[in-house]
Amino acid sequence: MKIGFIGLGHMGAPMALNLIKAGHALTVFDLSAEAMQMLADAGATRAATPKAAATGAEWVVTMLPAAAHVRTVLSAEDGVLAGIAKGVTIIDSSTIDPASAREFGKLAAANGNAFVDAPVSGGTGGAAAGTLTFMVGGSAALYESVKPVLSGMGKNIVHCGETGTGQVAKICNNLVLGVTMAGVAEAMALGEALGIDSKVLGGIMNTSTGRCWSSDTYNPFPGVIETAPSSRGYTGGFGTDLMLKDMGLATDAAKSVRQPAYMGALAQQLYQAMSSRGDGKLDFSAIIKLYRGEKG
Ligand code: NAD
Repeated sequence: MKIGFIGLGHMGAPMALNLIKAGHALTVFDLSAEAMQMLADAGATRAATPKAAATGAEWVVTMLPAAAHVRTVLSAEDGVLAGIAKGVTIIDSSTIDPASAREFGKLAAANGNAFVDAPVSGGTGGAAAGTLTFMVGGSAALYESVKPVLSGMGKNIVHCGETGTGQVAKICNNLVLGVTMAGVAEAMALGEALGIDSKVLGGIMNTSTGRCWSSDTYNPFPGVIETAPSSRGYTGGFGTDLMLKDMGLATDAAKSVRQPAYMGALAQQLYQAMSSRGDGKLDFSAIIKLYRGEKG
């Protein structure tokens, strides 16, 4: 299939590479010339604008930082909606707020196009391995139609409900993730201060009731999990600034329905403190630095 792919960052680049491997013909666009070059080397065609990437495409996939970027990429003069053929579906895999996803659904519909929100979980590792989970918001028929495209990039493709519900699932999941990471960091730092070996504590936690993804796969204490970003200087994972964005999405969404988000609000402040001291680009598990008294 001919696919226009826009946004070739930590997630988008490996996802696009997997679509090429699955035999699709990709036309790509990103603001980064380096990212475009990497995809061109793998066989993709470079487009000069999002409009050009969407022209002639049978599917358009976007993987961008936040809703503002998606809005620009879709509706600018040289945007996707200016180039896309009627009837073609837009799949947005960025993590954004559910209200914006619904707004983009309406924008697309007014242009004669379908839109699904299909945010992902699984991180950069899952993107590279093609094992992402996609949380799809859209009609049941749309969900069935996008499955063949998404299965080139992921393993679990889940229908969440109507447009926007994919983002609801993603935001709620990341609310848990942001909070559990802060909790594991707090406990690991406390254990260190009280004199237990961190590997022993991590091991106990991971066979006890404290076990969670933040402890057994992504433990924030260096050396406990060799493959975690904490064991490579908090590089190459899920950036603190992106987690801060997701905490903001969760607390804003909570406000919109007058729902308390006590833990989310506190975790948001912790990631904000990390960001303001200059650690926004580090993996979000670097939050443990706040507890270990390490300078930003
Ligand atoms: P990233 O910052 O690495 O990549 C974003 C890419 O979009 C960059 O290459 C940037 O140049 C490009 N871009 C920005 N504005 C653009 C524009 N106007 N036109 C074209 N390209 C533009 O981010 P990422 O880590 O790949 O994350 C992408 C999305 O996926 C985010 O919404 C994030 O929250 C979500 N996400 C990330 C992870 C993760 O582990 N990194 C996991 C799940 C979901």
